[in-house]
Amino acid sequence: MNWGTPPWTVDFRPEPRPLPASADFAVIGGGFSGLAAAAWLRKIAPDKTVVLLEASHVGSGASGRTGGLALSDVAVGPLEGTEDVLDTYRETLAELGVASELAFEGVYEIGRAVGLRDSPIVWEDSGTLRVVHEVPGGTVDAGKVVSGLARAAAGLGAAIFENTRVENVEFGSPHALQTSAGTLCAGRLFLATNAQSAALSGLSETSQAKFTLALMTEPLAPRALESLGLGSGKAFYTADLPYLWGRPMPDGSVMFGSGLVDLGSDAELAALDIAQGVAAGLFTSLEWRVRGLHPALGKVQFSHRWGGPIRFGQSWQLFFDWHPRSHEALVLNGLGGDGVSFSVYLGRWAAETLAAGRELPSWGKIAETD
Ligand SMILES: Cc1cc2nc3c(=O)[nH]c(=O)nc-3n(C[C@H](O)[C@H](O)[C@H](O)COP(=O)(O)OP(=O)(O)OC[C@H]3O[C@@H](n4cnc5c(N)ncnc54)[C@H](O)[C@@H]3O)c2cc1C
Repeated sequence: MNWGTPPWTVDFRPEPRPLPASADFAVIGGGFSGLAAAAWLRKIAPDKTVVLLEASHVGSGASGRTGGLALSDVAVGPLEGTEDVLDTYRETLAELGVASELAFEGVYEIGRAVGLRDSPIVWEDSGTLRVVHEVPGGTVDAGKVVSGLARAAAGLGAAIFENTRVENVEFGSPHALQTSAGTLCAGRLFLATNAQSAALSGLSETSQAKFTLALMTEPLAPRALESLGLGSGKAFYTADLPYLWGRPMPDGSVMFGSGLVDLGSDAELAALDIAQGVAAGLFTSLEWRVRGLHPALGKVQFSHRWGGPIRFGQSWQLFFDWHPRSHEALVLNGLGGDGVSFSVYLGRWAAETLAAGRELPSWGKIAETD
């Protein structure tokens, strides 16, 4: 496997310890969703035990490989009851003491339709891209969010186990989780495995996994950033196709992302090498595309190339529902390429549902097919 190297640093490692035989709550997946849920479970139910099981290391999935644009909408459209997502995201990170470098200065929506007359961005990309309007949101440092959430969860008393893959779940009361480090019995379960292990979540037939790509330029001079229209530091994404998103970074480099590799299975994802095949071709096209956007990028060099796995439902819908085989096991999945703020927001909601009976939303239902 070679998914490339993202620019983020995750500097949390859990204390090694033996896997306990049982826990009140088990969380599967150490990305934003699982870590936020584990921390929030301990915060609101400090007398209950929480174990988080991560197949590789925290942030090894999409969360440690993301672009870090925090937005108030997802691809499927507005989700009833989530109008407070950005405020709650900010508040949750603050309450958990996560130093995220959050900058909610707004995000440019750019498009090939008629844009703002004084658009700061004027790029050539299958037509002229201009700012169409500005939407709420901004950016975070994803490495700091992963590390901060993990530290918060551990500090509040959740036991985090890395390199501990859940291979099978026998749903029951309690659930029996067969892991690479032994069996764990858990009263209630939160499955937050995102692109991987779809069968565990009962989603193999109703969702698809993709690998999406990003790269980063070398640091650009302030004048070059100004001429690109990125002097304000705001992130951007296209409202129309072909899709492109990105953000200027604190050191003057610029991140760009686009492109999807279809994935048939977890094994295909595990074997994926960004230096070969479809992914390598997509990186070459993306580099050409970025260099063609504007003369200031004509000869730019790239310092990082990487990608990560995402999953979404067949019509881009996300899933936030009880598992088809148990109402003591909650699934969050299908956040696609829009999960930075929603993963933490819904991870917190999941904790409130599991520990305090908060009602689930009207959307996010999982069809009973597996
Ligand atoms: C390149 C890229 C750019 C992106 N950019 C943005 C962006 O700018 N804005 C935005 O909103 N969203 C973006 N996204 C999407 C966003 O990053 C994700 O929606 C979010 O990180 C999902 O978090 P998660 O915790 O649900 O999943 P993940 O971070 O993928 O975590 C799932 C974890 O589960 C673990 N796991 C899987 N199976 C098992 C198992 N059987 N046992 C134990 N552990 C298991 C995995 O190892 C993984 O660590 C991007 C994604 C990518 C890949």
